[in-house]
Parts: sequence; C-alpha cells; structure tokens
Amino acid sequence: MKYNIAVLDGDGIGPEICAAAIEVLDKIGAKYGHVFNFKHYYIGGCAIDKFGEPLPQSTIDGCLASDSVLLGAVGGYKWDDLPGDSRPEKGLLGIRKAMGLYSNIRPAKLWKNLADASPLKPALVKNGVEIIIVRELTGGIYFGKRERGVENGAEFASDEERYTVPEIERIMRIACELAAKRSKRVVSVDKANVLESSRLWRKTVHEYAKKHFPDITVEDVLVDNMAMQIVKNPAQFDVVVTSNIFGDILSDEAAQVTGSIGMLASSSLGDTKRGLYEPIHGSAPDIAGKDICNPIATILAAAMMLRDSFSLTEEYAAIENAVQRALDDGYRTADIYVEGTKKTGCREMAKIIAGNI
Ligand code: NAD
Repeated sequence: MKYNIAVLDGDGIGPEICAAAIEVLDKIGAKYGHVFNFKHYYIGGCAIDKFGEPLPQSTIDGCLASDSVLLGAVGGYKWDDLPGDSRPEKGLLGIRKAMGLYSNIRPAKLWKNLADASPLKPALVKNGVEIIIVRELTGGIYFGKRERGVENGAEFASDEERYTVPEIERIMRIACELAAKRSKRVVSVDKANVLESSRLWRKTVHEYAKKHFPDITVEDVLVDNMAMQIVKNPAQFDVVVTSNIFGDILSDEAAQVTGSIGMLASSSLGDTKRGLYEPIHGSAPDIAGKDICNPIATILAAAMMLRDSFSLTEEYAAIENAVQRALDDGYRTADIYVEGTKKTGCREMAKIIAGNI
C-alpha cells in the first residue's frame, strides 16, 4: 500500500525527531511492503521566517491532501516576544482546527526498565502506569473570546472558558470507546465546585455515558485533586477525559511521572481517519541541533499513525517491540540515562530502533 504523509518538522529539535521517525517508517515500509511518501511543510517559527505567518495556506492544503500528518514541534526563543496571534504556537492550534481534530489522546506509559527514570518512589510505580488522557482539543479557554484593555485606569486581560454540549459529548464518546476496550472506567476531570463551564461538563459526561455507554463507570475528580493523585497513586487511573487546558497541564504532569516527556506520543483525531501525530513535548530549544534529544516519542507517534490512521496493527507492534528492545539492550538518550546504561544520541537511537525491526 502507498501512504502519503505530510511532515511538519517545525522548530528546535523538530527536524531531528522527524528524521528519526522517518528512518523507522522507511524500515517498516521495506519490511512490510508499504510505500510511505513524505512531503514536508512549514509550520511555526520557520514558517514565520519564510512566509510571515505560522500556518501558511500551503501547509493546510498539504495536510488536507495527505493520508495523515506527522508533526515535530514548534516554537523557540527567537519568536518568544511576538504578539499572541503571530506566535509559532498559533500554527499548531490552527492546524488542529483546520483538520477538524477535536480529541487529543495522550497515553502516559511507564515503560518496563524505565522505573528508575520516574521521580516517584519505586513502590508507587512498580506495577506499571498507563494513564490515557483524552483531552478536548479545539474548545475551551484556548479558543475562547480574549480581551485586553484598560478599566478604571487598570490594565486588564481576560480569556473565556466556554463549552457546548456537543463539544463535550464528542470527546466523551472517544473516551468511552477507549474505556470500553480497557477498564470500562472513565475518570472525568473538572472544576465543578467553582466553574459554570465545569458544571455543564460534569452533567453532560454523565448523561452521555448513561445513554450511550451504560457499562462504563464515570467518576468525577476535581482538577486540583487530580494533580495530587497523579503523583500520589498514578496506577489508579486508566482513561481520563478532560477539557483543553486541564488536559494540557495534567498530561505533562502524568508524562513526568513516567520518566521523560521524550518518551510520550499523542494522536489528534476528528471524524475521519486522517490524524495529526506528534510527541507531547515541545521544541526543546535548549538542546536543539546537538543530536542529544530523545526521538522515541516521535517514533511512537509514527507508530500510532500506522495503527490508528492506516489500521496497520502488526507494524505498530513491530515499532513498540523495537523500542522496548532498544531499552532492554540498555540504550538511553540523555533524558532517560542512568548509570550503567549506554548513552546514545538521537540519530544513533533511531538507527538502533530501525535495526530492531
Ligand atoms: P519542551 O517540551 O520543549 O522542553 C521542556 C524540557 O524537556 C526541556 O528541558 C527540554 O530540553 C526537554 N525535552 C523536551 N523534549 C525532549 C526530548 N525529545 N528529548 C530530551 N529532552 C526533551 O517545553 P518548553 O521548554 O516549555 O517549550 C519550548 C518551546 O516549545 C516553546 O516555544 C513552547 O511554546 C514550545 N512548545 C511546543 C509544543 C508543540 O509543538 N507541540 C508543545 C509544548 C511547547
């Protein structure tokens, strides 16, 4: 089979990690008889430099014409002082919106052999951790009305958190479908003791599950408690559904519990099979261009693309096993390195994983 993949390398370590994922996909193609055609498009800071905007139309068109999209990361010091609407991150929000992607699934998995990389006590993580955070992606405060001005002589700024029932229902559907194949439990995170938008969220997730997924148990956890529970007892969670901003913050926290954000992938999906697959971390400008970043999150993002966009489950498993074998053999990039293991760079790690396929 032939697959057309749009690659948005982005900024910072983006080009390094995308090259690593492409090397692994090419190996999968050779072994399983698929052809992956890669077309690169600009997004973020590099697009601002070339086109004067973070998301040029050519990138949107390229993504919409592709079978699926692989993204590195955007942003960096160079563009930090630009006003909100022209910042690199705007490209990211824009492409998700343009592709109609309203869910972001982030599995925070603690890999076998990486328990020492977790900052938590071994007793808390010894039985493994796999928290799947289903984050609403195109609504809420990141897309709400924003305002800046001066009132009674004081400068002010405001951002609006707003959700509609259909927005909450469609993200709950994705969480319930996932939970139905797993623990049949969904934890919904909100701040219903304070926020009106959270009260609607809470009412809607319960009504939706009761009507469409009566076998699924829905539990509510307040976001402040959730932040504590993730470090106190992360193994208690399976599928977690939450709003855009809470999901953004909690998924980084859950990621850290598993050791390194350099290990975690995510997928963004809407109503079609075409998705956007990316690592959960940013562009890591502090280590860009040094060949020391961890490419595994992006390699696993490419694996998720094979499974979720192209239904290539065997190929997905081949990549997961190749990653596990690299870890079993003691290879570690700097972010997950511990004494007694073999420190490798980004390029070498990609070669080792591709070689394991
Ligand atoms: P970051 O995720 O880029 O980096 C946080 C820390 O983790 C840094 O110390 C970095 O070196 C390290 N790190 C990240 N990825 C790594 C990897 N693959 N291997 C090893 N170490 C890794 O977050 P930040 O520093 O808050 O943001 C840097 C830039 O990235 C900012 O411009 C931010 O806006 C942007 N950003 C982009 C995305 C995205 O493109 N999806 C997400 C988050 C942040």
